[in-house]
Amino acid sequence: MSKSFSRRGKPAEIREYHTASSGIFFLARRLVHSEQTPFQRIEVYESDSFGRVLLLDGLVQTTERDEFFYHEMLVHPAMMAHPNPREILIIGGGDGGALREVFRYPVRKATLVEIDAAVVAAARDFLPSLAASFRDPRVEIQIADGSRFIQESCRRYDIILVDSSDPVGPSAVLHQRGFYARLKERLKSGGIIASQAGSPLFHQRHLMKKSAFLKKLFKHAAYYFGPTPTYPGGQWCYSFLSDSVNPLERIGKKAPPGLKYYNRDIHTAAFAMPGFLREGID
Ligand code: SAM
Repeated sequence: MSKSFSRRGKPAEIREYHTASSGIFFLARRLVHSEQTPFQRIEVYESDSFGRVLLLDGLVQTTERDEFFYHEMLVHPAMMAHPNPREILIIGGGDGGALREVFRYPVRKATLVEIDAAVVAAARDFLPSLAASFRDPRVEIQIADGSRFIQESCRRYDIILVDSSDPVGPSAVLHQRGFYARLKERLKSGGIIASQAGSPLFHQRHLMKKSAFLKKLFKHAAYYFGPTPTYPGGQWCYSFLSDSVNPLERIGKKAPPGLKYYNRDIHTAAFAMPGFLREGID
């Protein structure tokens, strides 16, 4: 939830509460874009410290300054662990950040399934550093519910990335057991799924519940972690799921150039389970 207090002539204060008594705030020079779609409220602010900030229903999705932490950690562990990822599926990800990271590899095609066309349009118009990848001829953008798309499509993929918002509203279905069971059927042999899983500090119960069914569905079901300064708790959890690829097996290729956070040392360290989560998850 966000409240914007605009003091005349001064920057507005944009707040996102992470709990009833704590959260994050930005001083924003101006509101660049705002619209109510059938799915959510989209806002883009120009902030002093984080550049452009995209909020959906008042929750920070991405900021120009720190988005690389999240998009690199969502995408590269799976793309690096797979020997030759060619067909990619991204569910959600309408801001274009995950797609930009996928196109650092010689993939044949990336299909992006985003439920809200207005998010893609807002990214194109107001977040050029993320949305440039929408012009890549290898992308196919489908405006659809990712859960429905999976049910109706029979295509298979080397890598599936679930870049959904938090488990509320249209995104709730993308965090459930049935969705992951159907996702598994959409993997090619040797395929890998990576998804954003939530805040290790604030969403532990959700992570434990999810881990219980993911471990039953996949031979390799591992959480991994990375910093996300503007997300609740400042660190984020991701899941790596595969029936044939162990994420900690030796990686036989170099990371693509130009990355700002991910590298092979980070890859190994990211899969170390913090002590406070070990009991409930391991
Ligand atoms: N990095 C962000 C995070 O971790 O919360 C997610 C960013 S991305 C903008 C999330 C996208 O998922 C949004 O554009 C939203 O419209 C989309 N989305 C939500 N539910 C969806 C669904 N059922 N199918 C496809 N896209 C969905």
